[in-house]
Amino acid sequence: MSQAAHVIAVSDISAKVREIETAYRNYLDVFRIPEDHRIVVNYSAGKDSTATLAVANALFGHRAQAVMADTDNEHELTIDFARTIHEQIGCHPVHVVKRIYGEADFARRRAYMKKNWSKKQAIRMGAYRGVIMPSLARADTAFGRVWQKTAKRWGIDFETALDAALSVMHPSGNSFLDAALLHGKFPMLRDRFCTDELKIKIAYDAAIRPMLDEGDVVVQWSGVRGDESSKRAGYDRFAVDMRDEGFLYNFLPIHQWTAADVFALHKYMGIRPNPLYLQGASRVGCMNCVLCNKEEISETAARWPEHIEKHRQWELKVRLASRWVHWMSTGTVSQAWVNSIIGFREMTNRRGETVKTRRLLGDSPRLYGLDTEIQHLDWSGFYGPRGGMGAPSVPEVVEWAKTGRGGKVYDLVKASLNTTTCSSRYGLCE
Ligand code: SF4
Repeated sequence: MSQAAHVIAVSDISAKVREIETAYRNYLDVFRIPEDHRIVVNYSAGKDSTATLAVANALFGHRAQAVMADTDNEHELTIDFARTIHEQIGCHPVHVVKRIYGEADFARRRAYMKKNWSKKQAIRMGAYRGVIMPSLARADTAFGRVWQKTAKRWGIDFETALDAALSVMHPSGNSFLDAALLHGKFPMLRDRFCTDELKIKIAYDAAIRPMLDEGDVVVQWSGVRGDESSKRAGYDRFAVDMRDEGFLYNFLPIHQWTAADVFALHKYMGIRPNPLYLQGASRVGCMNCVLCNKEEISETAARWPEHIEKHRQWELKVRLASRWVHWMSTGTVSQAWVNSIIGFREMTNRRGETVKTRRLLGDSPRLYGLDTEIQHLDWSGFYGPRGGMGAPSVPEVVEWAKTGRGGKVYDLVKASLNTTTCSSRYGLCE
């Protein structure tokens, strides 16, 4: 153990650090990893990755290098903390990387949209399977005319939905927003492209791949703790990384630690945690995470409203980039038209009653009992469906988040334990 580790008092924490060293050396033997391998610490500026970096530095000194992926959705204090943490720990400065989407990425997307949004398209999955989505590039069709009411409601002035979409399809200067524009939606639990593209891939491409290309064996250390979720609990503490089998490995040094252990290590090593914890944040990193809970949303609205406003502005752009939102936005203003498209029409029966009947439009649409009248969207919402609302905007989610909230006494450890967010294997999202 290097000299830095002796800073830790003889306590449970120092015993835990020794356990990490023993276990790690054992893994090196079992996996036949050379002594001169490189250590890359996945850093998020949260408490767990800070503890991991401190332990890696204590045990292996300057052989450990931290890398942090800035998503452009972080709180500025988090980025500042990452850029200065080496002064507290005594390690190398954190290598901060960022995925940049360029004009070429957007040009490809614009070409795709011009080609495909102009055509009719049969929906192949989900409740609307079999339904034909109209061209979004024409103003002289039933859809085109109805969409003009959407444009009026949204306060925009374009001939067609495609024109509106193309107007936002340029680099914005913000990587998180650019990723959402290119995907035509915000990330969500089952499609977390933010973690994949803005964190995992860029950290690999910019920091890890160059080491591998030089012939180094690399072990990534991540601050994943098992008590945060059953998914995290299921990860092996040490594993081969299949992105470069035989040269890249993953190690979770504090997998069995509690949040209390992590803060205790901060204390014993004299490290002040990210100041956002002391200001009321239960987790740090993206402000906010698209998956964050109700309490975090109301906390952010109260303490950092500028981040709520930032997301509201993003939503105004991202809904224009979504083919699905354009199409579904016409639901309430022309229900008769939507009904006709999805295969219903109203007719009067022999008793003089008005009833909805199914129209046969070739391949018969299947609705699986959905009530089309609730299938109206105005947003590709940053937070996704919340509080029984299908696609609420940020202000609607904030209002919902304020409800049913009692007073609370803030407790660092309890708040950390109660947090349910994403569970990336690499610990890049706290
Ligand atoms: S913290 Fe949340 S929003 Fe940020 S990259 Fe991870 S999953 Fe995406």
